[in-house]
Parts: sequence; structure tokens; C-alpha cells
Amino acid sequence: LLSRLKDPTLLPAAGYVAGVWQTSAATGAQFTVTNPSTGAVLAELPDMGVAETHAAIAAAHAAQADWAAHTGKERAAVLRRLFDLMMANADDLAIIITAEMGKPLAEARGEVVYGAAYVEWFAEEAKRIYGDVMPGHQRDKRLLVLKQPVGVVGAITPWNFPNAMLARKMAPALAVGCAMVAKPAEQTPLSALALAVLAERAGLPAGLLSVIPGTDGPGIGREMCANPLMRKLTFTGSTEVGRILLRQGADQVMKMSMELGGNAPFIVFDDADLDAAVEGAMIAKFRNNGQTCVCANRIYVQAGVYDAFAAKLATAVAALTTGDGFAEGVALGPMIDADALAKVQAHVSDATALGAEVLTGGTASGGLFFPATVLKGATPAMRLAREETFGPVAPLFRFETVEEVIRLANETEFGLASYFYARDMARVWRVAEALDYGMVGINTGQISTETAPFGGVKQSGQGREGSRYGADDYLELKYLCLGGI
Ligand code: ADP
Repeated sequence: LLSRLKDPTLLPAAGYVAGVWQTSAATGAQFTVTNPSTGAVLAELPDMGVAETHAAIAAAHAAQADWAAHTGKERAAVLRRLFDLMMANADDLAIIITAEMGKPLAEARGEVVYGAAYVEWFAEEAKRIYGDVMPGHQRDKRLLVLKQPVGVVGAITPWNFPNAMLARKMAPALAVGCAMVAKPAEQTPLSALALAVLAERAGLPAGLLSVIPGTDGPGIGREMCANPLMRKLTFTGSTEVGRILLRQGADQVMKMSMELGGNAPFIVFDDADLDAAVEGAMIAKFRNNGQTCVCANRIYVQAGVYDAFAAKLATAVAALTTGDGFAEGVALGPMIDADALAKVQAHVSDATALGAEVLTGGTASGGLFFPATVLKGATPAMRLAREETFGPVAPLFRFETVEEVIRLANETEFGLASYFYARDMARVWRVAEALDYGMVGINTGQISTETAPFGGVKQSGQGREGSRYGADDYLELKYLCLGGI
């Protein structure tokens, strides 16, 4: 991996704790990072845990007050430099993502640009954290609201977007004057460490950002929730782990932002432009090899266009090549690990046992690879109707009426992304309003952008990332009541 990089210093074999690059963990333990496409060892890292997290939180707390006292413009300048460095090093950052996570290089580069866009956006927002002046309730009173940073923030991130998921937490936190202690997923810590290298180069004061590589997620999570200097936790990952963190944080009434699982419906109505719907489904379903929380999980197609849509989608999907993300012409990478592969296989076998027909794909192709798959005849009894498959499997459900599909689409504890294709304007409005989801893609399969609020309702989470609302998650309101005027 090092030999592929223009700048090998982006890959330190160390954690970044309290402004210091530490090559060994307090326990002396190490862990390896491997390439899921080949199994090759990419790095040996110190396996950091509770001790390092504790030290990082103390340093973050010590550094935060002065950072908050910087002007917005001063903080913006550091973030702007970080954005420039991310773009200047985009090729290397993409190589690191492909190596540790597996996605095709072009898609990895897209992730770097996407992650950097959040840094640019919040660099701009840093200057615009406005308070309020409001009419008083008595003649001698003047009322004001200040927005102040919450303080030290813990971030726990997943492996599916090793760069962007951290970038979109770091950027708003640092922009408004918070400090951050981050724990990347154990499968993909290298991208997070590379971001820390660039943040340091951008001039971020020491201690404000720590990145703790380690395999003890539960221990690090407990320390983040129990340490009284920690004021907030922002987590992206499974609903299961999100619930654990919410429970743990309850003891000190910690502020929480949660980006959790989804079970996105993708609905094709009979008035849809079918070719556009196929194109949208390819993006919404197969982006990142189906391994995103906004990936379409259930594709509902109205009876009149069901067969035509199934045929067109199967043809398009059959043309997708799965393989090593560094190889030419590869559209889809591997599953992240054996558990992820086993889940996809289990969902497909369960569906076929219950009567689904495989139109393309359907059987694992060696290593951690699973081909892009389309299943016809999916029903609510199948596991893939209730659980997030998180892989390249597109199950097609048939429906008759608008009321029926709204009920089916909402029949889940999740509420992150949803998508539908229709042309009738009244239908577009009514369906958009009726879907119990934080995000609705209408005649598009691509909704994520730094300029819009990303987040879910129900058990998909709380809080929003990106857009002008995204800074709010890292700010407290302080009300000032001036009397005797
Ligand atoms: P995924 O299924 O995407 O791996 P997880 O929720 O298991 O989702 O993992 C997301 C992140 O949460 C990773 O960084 C992982 O190490 C971390 N994690 C896993 N278990 C815990 C836990 N009990 N407490 C805190 N973090 C955890």
C-alpha cells in the first residue's frame, strides 16, 4: 500500500492521541488492517483503548476553550486549509479507502470529494453561527440567544465510508468550536488517521482532534459515555450499537446524534419513467456495493410495470462487474467481511426458499465477493423485507395501489431514506408527505449532499448532518435575559 501512495506519510502506523503520534498502545497490543479484496495485510496498528481515550478526552477538554475563543473566521481558515489538503491528496486518500474498504477506486475518489465538501461547507458556516435577539416579555427586559459549542464530542464511525463519515462529523464540530475524539471502525482506521495527518498539517491546534485506532469498540464507547468531560457523542453505525450508546449516555444525560440503520423503500409507480427508475435503482441499490444505510433495501414496483421493470433492471445489473477495487472496469467491490457476506447469502437463500426467483447473480463468487443480484417475487415474509441486507441484492415486490405501498413502505421500525418514481404531481406530493422517512428521493436515486440535512426518523436515529441545520447538533442555545433597562 505504501508504495502506491505519492505521499506515504499519510499512513502513520500510530494513533493520534492528544496531539501526539503514538506508535504503541498502553496495553502493548497491536492489530492488523487487511484488504478485503485480497486479504493482504495493509498495516499493523497499536490497539488503543480506554486509556488512550481517557487521555484524548482530557487533552480535548484542555484545548477546547481556546479554540472556541477563536473567531469563526480563524477556525474557518484552518478548515479551509484542511479542505484544500484533502483535495490535493485526493488520489492518495482514495487509494487508502480502496485498500482498506474495497470499493472501486473511482468511487473512493468520489467519497473523498464528498467528505471534503462537508469540510468546505462547514468552513464557510463557521463564520455564520448567528444568535438571536427577540422581543422581551416585559418593558425593561431585552432577550438574547447565544449559540455556543457543546464542548468535547466523541465520534464513532463505521467502515462503509471511512473518510466521509468522519469528515462530516469533524467538520461541523470543529467549525463551531468543539473538540473531537474519534474512534474509526476497526476494519478501516487508515483513512481516519490520514485525515488527522492532514488536519495537523492544516494547523489544527494539538489536542483538539484525536483519532484512536482500536478493536475494543465497547470499551472505548463506555469511556466516551462515562467520562464527565465528554458532552456529546455522535455515532454512525448499526441501530443495535446506537441503542447501547443511548442507554450508556443516559447516565450523564449526554447529547446524542445517531445515524443508524435503514430499510429504504424504492417505489416505482406505473406513471414513472421506467428507464429513469432503473437508472435510479442502480444508484440507490448498488452504490458502495449496497453497503450504505441509504441503500434501497425493498424495491416496490406497481403491477402494471412490474415485469418490464424487472427485465430492464436485470439486464442493467447483469452488466455490473464485481472484483478488486483497484482493477479496471470493476463496478462493485467485495463485502467488508465474512459476517457481511454470510448475511447477504442468508437473505438470498431465505428468499429463494420462500419462492423468490433469481433473475441475475445469486451465488457467492469466491473470497468476500457476491455478485449483483436481482430477485423477482419478493414478499413481506422474507427476511430481506424486514432487515437491512447491506449488500448487492435487489428484491422486487409487487404492489397494486398507492395506499397499499405506503402502508408497506412505512411498516418498519426504520425511517432513514426512501425513494419513489412517479410523474403525476398530486401523487408526488401526497406520497412524499406520507412516507415516514427523514429523506425522500423523488425521481432520483442520489440524495446525499453536504448542502442538505442527512438523517432519519424512528429508529434510524436523531440529529442531522450537513446543511445549515448540521451545525445545530454541535451547538447549545444560551438564553440571556437582560433586566432593568
Ligand atoms: P457495522 O454493522 O456497520 O459494523 P457497528 O454499529 O457494529 O456497525 O459499528 C459501527 C462502529 O461502532 C464501529 O466503529 C464499531 O467499532 C463501533 N462499535 C461496535 N460496538 C460498539 C459498542 N458496544 N460501543 C461503541 N462502539 C461500538
